[in-house]
Amino acid sequence: MIMKQNYFRCGRRGLILLAISVMGAFTLQAQKVPINFNRFHGYTGTQAYLKKVAKAYPNITKLVTIGESTMGRKIQVLIISNRNTGTPLDRYVELRHPRGEVNNVPPMQTDQVKPGLWICASTHGNEFTGTEVCLYDIDKLVTGYGSDQEITDLIDHDVFYICPIVNPDGVFNSVERDIPQRYNSMKKDDDGDGKINEDGPDDLNGDGHITYFRYKNPKGNYIQDEVDPRIMIRIRKGTKTDRQRWSMIREDFDNDGDGKRGEDGEQGIDLNRNFPEGWFDDAGYQGGSGDYPTSAPETRALAEFFTNHHNILMAEFYHTSGGFTFRPMGSLSDNLMNPKDRAVYDFILGKKYVEMMGGDVPQAWLHPDSLDVYRKALEKSSKNSIAIKRGYEFPRLWRVSYDEINDKRYGFGLQADWAFKEFGTYALTTELWNYRKDLPGYTFEGKDAYTRFQRAAIRYQKDHYGGKYFLDWKPFKHPELGEGEIGGWLPQYGSNNAFPGEPLLKVCDTHWQYEKWRASLLPRIEVTQASGRVLEKAGPYRVIEVTAKVENKGKLATQLARGASLPGNRQDVVWLIGNRDKVTFLQGRAFQKIGTLEGTMKIPNQRTGKNKAEVKWIVKVKGNAPLKIVATSQKGGTVVKDVEIK
Ligand SMILES: [Zn+2]
Repeated sequence: MIMKQNYFRCGRRGLILLAISVMGAFTLQAQKVPINFNRFHGYTGTQAYLKKVAKAYPNITKLVTIGESTMGRKIQVLIISNRNTGTPLDRYVELRHPRGEVNNVPPMQTDQVKPGLWICASTHGNEFTGTEVCLYDIDKLVTGYGSDQEITDLIDHDVFYICPIVNPDGVFNSVERDIPQRYNSMKKDDDGDGKINEDGPDDLNGDGHITYFRYKNPKGNYIQDEVDPRIMIRIRKGTKTDRQRWSMIREDFDNDGDGKRGEDGEQGIDLNRNFPEGWFDDAGYQGGSGDYPTSAPETRALAEFFTNHHNILMAEFYHTSGGFTFRPMGSLSDNLMNPKDRAVYDFILGKKYVEMMGGDVPQAWLHPDSLDVYRKALEKSSKNSIAIKRGYEFPRLWRVSYDEINDKRYGFGLQADWAFKEFGTYALTTELWNYRKDLPGYTFEGKDAYTRFQRAAIRYQKDHYGGKYFLDWKPFKHPELGEGEIGGWLPQYGSNNAFPGEPLLKVCDTHWQYEKWRASLLPRIEVTQASGRVLEKAGPYRVIEVTAKVENKGKLATQLARGASLPGNRQDVVWLIGNRDKVTFLQGRAFQKIGTLEGTMKIPNQRTGKNKAEVKWIVKVKGNAPLKIVATSQKGGTVVKDVEIK
């Protein structure tokens, strides 16, 4: 109001003032919840940030706690979507029951009826780079809303579910205490006090850090680097060497006085083996899969969330490290994946990923219509019968975890396979941070790449972080293992995660760009026509023919190839809604199934179906009772339009 008065009073000068205040407003918005990536946020920092963002952006965010960890820490999802848009079906189709109104069912939330993208991280607590990517995504989304057209459009029509920490106890220990914890509980619990998971680590030399203990051992599988003897090089079992052999363990291992060596591994559940996906099939033989699927509270929280959010079409499960993506399936041969899903995964999602990560896109993906030619060439050059059938081998950057050479599944209870097979999502497991490429100014290839990386990384942390991340080795007498040295990388800064600052920012931004692009592929249902034609009038009644045209204007179809046939999913449907006491259906029931609407994007080598549907009804309407069309798709959105009667 005030600005408007200024405009009229001061003319041109007022306009400039207006422009400045608008710019000021955007700048202010960008600074509402400042964040930087010069350090890891850990569990505490992440929680604090989520809380502030939810408070600062109440119209486009909602913070929900979806469960609690083994130690009682919150597992949180930040829902990012315009909370004033969206058409919950239950606002139009009231729940009724022959014996009375149903009123004890929680109403649908606006986000549940929008196409969804799920991003989570730190399922393995010591792989927390993804948590930072999640926070970066959140920052880009909330600050971009209202100032960036593309982001504003996504937040108005779609929903982002961001769960930065799936394994809060693991992240708390890995970051806040610098004790790497992959599983959902502490690595050991040897004090016999009857409690679990509360034992602190043993800082043997009392320097405030849990690093590594190395000692000379003729049977050891490490040698020192000749260039920089601070670096330990792992040698393969059976390798012959004249050099001094060493053993290296974590500082707090093997001091429990049981006389055994190398047995103090982690205990607890590997959350990425605890999902309800082929779990029973030999899962007991792999470490950490738990007593039954979802036996870990963290896994169960995700399982319940997905069960109540069938609107999720895209899913990302961040892990580290390696700098590549596993797409499903790790549990079944690719021969069993629907060719259309495979085409979307590889020719569209994979191609873009490889391009964005700077890799070489396979020729077969660039010319998918010539697959037969590549197939014939592979018959001569490859031992991978699955790849031959498919027509291409995977590039390093994009692959399946399934062992294709031996036709053998990789693991059991895998989260991305679960999300793909059970819910019909384009799920991915991205292993963030590639030590070969992501240290600014360096690339390491070929033999000894890891050793050369370590030499450079020790210099890098000296130049950029004052040498705080790597401790020089100091002599120490271990209570069980005798003379040796304690030192090495602080666990959170070794090679598993991106270094804070520039290296981390680069990882965050690349993957943010990729997920933003993935969000732009989501389907988007629209009702393009809702009209009625009066066929007959009789007293207070009119007989009306209603026509509804529905279109998916998004790029991808509203379901995966077999998506609509999954037990928890359904086809897209169109409802004709009117007062139940005044509208009688003469032809066509209240809702009509229209199958799965295709998207506007051409899927290579696949027959493109229709992205449009037309539905008709004949109804008898009493008086002027209004009619509405509600088109609803699980993963393509729900929209409403008034029927215009002529
Ligand atoms: Zn992992």
